Amino acid sequence: MKELIIGSHVSYTQNEGLIGSVNEALSYNANTFMFYTGAPQNTLRAKIDENKTKEAQKIMKENNIDINDVIIHAPYIINLANNKDEEKYHFSINFLKEEIERAKTLGINKIILHPGSHIGLGEKEGLENIVKALNIILSEKEGPIICLETMAGKGSELGKTFEELKTILDGIKNKQRIQICLDTCHLNDAGYDLKDFDKLLHAFDKIIGIDKIGCIHINDSKNPKSSHKDRHENIGLGTIGFENLIKIIYHEKLKKVPKILETPYISAVKGGKDRTYPPYKFEIEMIKNKKYNENFQEDIRKCYKKF
Ligand code: FE
Ligand code: FE
Ligand code: ZN
Repeated sequence: MKELIIGSHVSYTQNEGLIGSVNEALSYNANTFMFYTGAPQNTLRAKIDENKTKEAQKIMKENNIDINDVIIHAPYIINLANNKDEEKYHFSINFLKEEIERAKTLGINKIILHPGSHIGLGEKEGLENIVKALNIILSEKEGPIICLETMAGKGSELGKTFEELKTILDGIKNKQRIQICLDTCHLNDAGYDLKDFDKLLHAFDKIIGIDKIGCIHINDSKNPKSSHKDRHENIGLGTIGFENLIKIIYHEKLKKVPKILETPYISAVKGGKDRTYPPYKFEIEMIKNKKYNENFQEDIRKCYKKF
């Protein structure tokens, strides 16, 4: 078994397809990755190139990346909780059905989904809408797993407590195709204490079950516990802190679970222009060393200046 399954969010472009995503992950020394199949803020999706996919799968094999650890994130504009606009609700359902087909074509087994925002309908009705939609989406017995993400509780977001997620899970008929994605920033902002992760995990286990954790998003938070803000911070620079994140990343009971960084890019001025650079190679290095580097932002700026 791998000591650590770690990666980050990477890009996916029509031009390079999955090959670009794998190569980006490898440039960070990652052994997994997560991507959107197109822009996260819209639902325009290009056809998937079969040859590029095959080549990408080959590169993964050669580099010891298990495709079962690779993850697609559904676009965040999809909302299964509100059905006031029936057309939009059905559009969301159909989009996710298509996303499942895209995942199958790519050979990917896990799709992360934000449960949705009820936008005035109330929590009960919102949760019912999510269940109804997911039962349509997961009507086929076999297929990729949907991982519902724990949310910060910004606005009317649902999935901000283990109890809400449990309500959704209880309503879903096809249990083998539904799991949970823990997001450390969201958990903190929702009011969970990441400094006592064993207690948090115990609570999760009692309500939902540790075996249901399909992915963990590793982010520090810009805001204090219970802020309901959802603003990610680079690891070690936020309110959760490096040591607490390391404990989660290396937790004995979560070894098989892929960990994905979604921390913000670092800004630097280059040629008089404000540019931003991915922090993932450096954050992954600190995680592997289990040692925080006080100067990692400076190191990132120096490294990318060369190019
Ligand atoms: Fe997310
Ligand atoms: Fe996340
Ligand atoms: Zn977030």
